Amino acid sequence: MKASVKTLQQAIQYFSDEQVCIDAVAEMRWLGGKPVCPACEHTEHYWLASQKRWKCKECWKQFTVKLGTIFEDSPIPLTKWLPALWMVVNCKNGISSYELGRDLGVSQKSAWFMLHRLRLALQSGSVAKMGGPGGAVEADETFVGGKQANMHKDRRVRMQKARSEIRNEDAAGHIGKTAVMGILDRETRQMRAKVVPNVRRETLQAEVLKHVEHGSNVYTDDAGAYRDLPMDKFVHEVVDHAETYVRGQVHTNGLENFWSLLKRGLRGTYVAVEPFHLFRYVDEQVFRFNSRKDASGNRLSDRDRFTLALSQIAGKRLTFAEVTGKVGENQIN
Ligand SMILES: [Zn+2]
Repeated sequence: MKASVKTLQQAIQYFSDEQVCIDAVAEMRWLGGKPVCPACEHTEHYWLASQKRWKCKECWKQFTVKLGTIFEDSPIPLTKWLPALWMVVNCKNGISSYELGRDLGVSQKSAWFMLHRLRLALQSGSVAKMGGPGGAVEADETFVGGKQANMHKDRRVRMQKARSEIRNEDAAGHIGKTAVMGILDRETRQMRAKVVPNVRRETLQAEVLKHVEHGSNVYTDDAGAYRDLPMDKFVHEVVDHAETYVRGQVHTNGLENFWSLLKRGLRGTYVAVEPFHLFRYVDEQVFRFNSRKDASGNRLSDRDRFTLALSQIAGKRLTFAEVTGKVGENQIN
């Protein structure tokens, strides 16, 4: 992608040429942008210019740059997909299918479909554990939906307190709300979040055990659910929200930030989110959160974030360092 493409306006203009889009996806998919036949992995092909597809010299099968990606069976051209991706990863509070449809000149229904597909592709799917001996990890959960979204802050604090008292019951107070749990690795600034069926101890602790490496410092609020994390595996410290929000390192502010971004997006942008679809909005917001800064604290540009997302979607997962070219440096710009 041309270095001068930095803003949404420039991206829309740049990607208005289909060939430019094909080259951009090819570059993200294949080493050096050189196509590999999806059928036989051969690397020599004929380019059928009028059809914008390759024909493999080995197996004679034809393929486009979309084949084998999330764009594969969609009649929507890349000239719409790529600007859509730019918007999804760079609009802080998310983008609705109505806005996207208007901006791209497609129907709201098409835009809805595109958004869902892009969100699905943004799922990190990483299975590596977070934290590590001495590392700092936050674990927290929240409820989304229902009336809590409209609640005033101090009422919410009261609710949280009440909630911590009933949460070992059958979560009867949360009808109409969906629980989301998050884990944040403070060193790498990477987090994961998922919709959970409830906030019972076994559910939340299972997530900590699954995602956090033994020996990590785990910071949580005073929720009973985390109270007896296996102490031989984790160092567990608790912040009491009713008294103080920050006690040195012992806080869950990173995740609190994330929850407020998530809720702002849900409240402001999306007209209605069914609980069934919530996980996709969570994934989208997680992607944006995780690609704000690299591990050294350098802010990613919109262009970096787009490149990272496109590489992920096209099947070649780049690291931050590869995208920004800032390997191990502490650049300020
Ligand atoms: Zn082939």
